[in-house]
Amino acid sequence: MSRRLSCAPRRVLAALLLSVGLSGPAVVSAHENHDSHDNHDRQLDAELAQWERTGYNDPKEALRGLQAMRANRAEAHRPAHALRIDYTIARVQALAGDMDEARRWADRLEQRPGGRPLALLLRAQVQDRSGQPVKAGELAQQALTDLDPGCPQEMSSFQLAPDCDWRSSYTALRIVARAQSARGEPASAQVRLLRALALAQSAGDTFATLTAMSQLAMNAQDLDQPTQAQQWMSQALQLAQGDVGATVRLRITESTMAALRNDTKSQLALLEDGLRLAAHTNARREVASMQASLADAYMHTQQPARAAMLARQALPVVLEFGDQKLERTLRHNLSVSLVLLRQFEAARREINRVIELARGDNDAVRRILQLRELGEAYAAVNQPREALRLYHEERSLSAETAQRKRESALRQLSHQYDSEARQRDLELARRQQALQSQELTNRRLAQYVGVGLAVLLGLSVVLMVVMLVRVRDTNKRLKANQSLLRAQSERDPLTELANRRHFLSVMDRQAGETFRGALLMIDIDHFKQVNDRHGHAAGDMVIREVARRISQAVRSDDLVVRWGGEEFLVFAPTVAPAALQHLADRILSGVGSLPISIPEGSIRVTASIGYAHFPLAPAQLPQHWEQAVNWADMALYTAKSQGRNRAHGIEAVQADDAQALSQVETDFEAACGRGLVRLQTLLGPELPGEALP
Ligand code: GH3
Ligand code: MG
Ligand code: MG
Repeated sequence: MSRRLSCAPRRVLAALLLSVGLSGPAVVSAHENHDSHDNHDRQLDAELAQWERTGYNDPKEALRGLQAMRANRAEAHRPAHALRIDYTIARVQALAGDMDEARRWADRLEQRPGGRPLALLLRAQVQDRSGQPVKAGELAQQALTDLDPGCPQEMSSFQLAPDCDWRSSYTALRIVARAQSARGEPASAQVRLLRALALAQSAGDTFATLTAMSQLAMNAQDLDQPTQAQQWMSQALQLAQGDVGATVRLRITESTMAALRNDTKSQLALLEDGLRLAAHTNARREVASMQASLADAYMHTQQPARAAMLARQALPVVLEFGDQKLERTLRHNLSVSLVLLRQFEAARREINRVIELARGDNDAVRRILQLRELGEAYAAVNQPREALRLYHEERSLSAETAQRKRESALRQLSHQYDSEARQRDLELARRQQALQSQELTNRRLAQYVGVGLAVLLGLSVVLMVVMLVRVRDTNKRLKANQSLLRAQSERDPLTELANRRHFLSVMDRQAGETFRGALLMIDIDHFKQVNDRHGHAAGDMVIREVARRISQAVRSDDLVVRWGGEEFLVFAPTVAPAALQHLADRILSGVGSLPISIPEGSIRVTASIGYAHFPLAPAQLPQHWEQAVNWADMALYTAKSQGRNRAHGIEAVQADDAQALSQVETDFEAACGRGLVRLQTLLGPELPGEALP
C-alpha cells in the first residue's frame, strides 16, 4: 500500500461525515428568549422538532404521533399550524427514505397558503438525502428568498420578528452551505453557517446551535483554519453535555477532524466511543452511521477487509432509511476496499452504483476525492491503466474546482470589503460620538476648574482675612510688648518703683508750664554708713524696704519714684495742701518706726523729707515742674541740715512776682533766714540711741 493512499483520501471522509453528522433533524430545547412568537407557536415548534428527531431513528413511531396530532389537536385546525404539522410529516417520510411520498407532500403543500417555501425546502431535503447536495442547495436558496423577508439578514445576534420562520431559514441555510462546500466554496458556506448559527442562538435552541457549530468546525477545517475548527468543536461539545444523541453526532465530526489532522488513533477511538454510545441509545440509524464512518476509517488505515465488513453491516439500515447519500459513500468505501482486496468485479459493481447515485449531481469535491482514492487503490494493486484513467479524470475536475474556489474566495473578499466599509462608517460615527462626548467632558472640566478657582479665590480671601487678623493681633502684641518694654525701662529694677525717666514722661504729658500738685523729696539719713557697716547687699535690702514702706504710706493715685541712690520723690497730684503734712508724717514714721531686717540682724533707719504744694502759696505763681522739684529739694536740704529724721514743708513764700520768687529760689537759705519762706517741720519717730546706724 502506498503512502499516498494513507493520506490523500481524507477529504472524502470529510465530505462524507459532513453529510452524515450534520444533516440530522434539530430539536428545540424550549428556551424562551423571544417574546414575539406566541406560546402556541413555540410549543408546537418544540413538539414538531422532537417528533422529527424521533423520526431520525424511528420514523414509524414519529409518523404515528404526528398523525394523531393532526387528527386530535385543536390547533391543527388553524391552517398555519396544520401546514407545519403536515410539513413535519413529510420531512419524517423523507427521513424514512420514502422520497416519492415526500415529493407528493411537497406538491400538495405548495398549493396551500404560505406553503411554497416549505415545499421548496422539502424538495431540497429530498435532494440532499438523495446525495444531491448541489441541487438541494439551489432549491434551498429559492426557499430562502421566500423565507428571508421575515428574518433579519445580519449575522450578529438579533431579535426574531414574529413572522420569522427561523427553523426553516436555518434548515435552508445549512443545505445551501452544504451545497457550497460540495462545490468547493467553503468561504461562502461560512457566511451561510454563521447566519444559521445566529438564528439558532436567537431562538435559544441548543441542539440547533451545536449542530451549526459542528458544521462550522468542519467548514473551518475545509478553510485550513484548524484552530478555529477546534474552537467551534469545543463550544459544540460543551452545549451537548447531557444529550447522548447530540454527543454521538459530535463524535462523528470530531473523528473526521482527527482524521484531517492525520491523528488516526484519536479518529478510531472517537468512532468506537461513538458507536458504543449509539448502541446504548438503541439508535439504529446512528449505529449505521458509525459503522459507515468506521468502515471509512479502516479503509484509510489499510484494513480493507474490516472496512468491507463494516460497510456491509451498515448498508441494509442505510438502504432501509433510503439515505442515498450515505449509501453512496458506503459503496465508494466498499469499492475501494474491494479493489485493494483484488475483487475487481465486485468493485466495479459498486463503482457503477456510485456513478449511478451521483448522476445529475455536480458534487465535484467529493467526486475528486473518490476518483483519487480509487485511482490510488488501483495503483496499489498494480492496475496502472485504470489508475491512470482515474488520475486524468481527477485532474481535470480538480482544475475546474480550483477555479470555482478562487471565484468564491473573491466573492467572499468583496463581501468582506463591503462589510469592512460599513464597519469603517460605523467606526467614524463612533469616533465622532466619542469626540463629542470628550468635548462635553472638557466643558464640564472647565466648569470644574472655574468652580475650583472660585473656591480657591474664596479660600485665599479667607486666608488673607486670617492673615490680617493675625498681623493685627501681632501688632497689638508688639504694641503691648513695646509698652511693657517701655514700662520696664521706666521702672527701677531694685525697688520696682518708677524711675526718674518715668517721672519725666509723666511730667511731659502734664499740660502747660504750670506744675500742679505736691512733691515730697525723701532721702535716707546716713546711708553711707549702712553700706559701710553692713555691706552693699544689706544696703540694697534697706533701700528696697524703705521703698516698700513709702509706697504703703501714699495713696493709690500718688506716684513714688526712685529719684537716685537712696533718694525718693513722691508726686501727689490730688492731695489737698492741708492734707500734705499728714502724708509727709506717714512717710516719716513709716520709714523710721520699725527696724529693717538684714542678714546680720536688723537695723533702724530714718529719712529726711522736703515737701511743698504747687503753685506755692500764697501768690500761686506758675512754675515749671523742674523748679518745683528744686523747691522740694531745697526744703529737704534744710531738713538735713537741721538734724535729719524730719520733714520740712514749704507752707508759704513771700514773693509777689516771678522775679521775687526767683530770688528766693536762688538763695533759699537766706530767704528762710529773712522770713520770706514759712517752713513747717515734722519730726520723725524717736530712736533709741544705739539704734542709729
Ligand atoms: P546724709 O544723711 O547726708 O544723706 O548721709 P548719707 O550717708 O546718706 O550721704 P549721701 O546721701 O551723700 O550718700 C549716699 C550714699 O548711698 C552714697 C552711695 O554709696 C550709697 N548708695 C547710693 N546708691 C546706692 C545703692 O543703690 N545701693 C547701696 N547699697 N548704696 C547706695
Ligand atoms: Mg542722698
Ligand atoms: Mg542720704
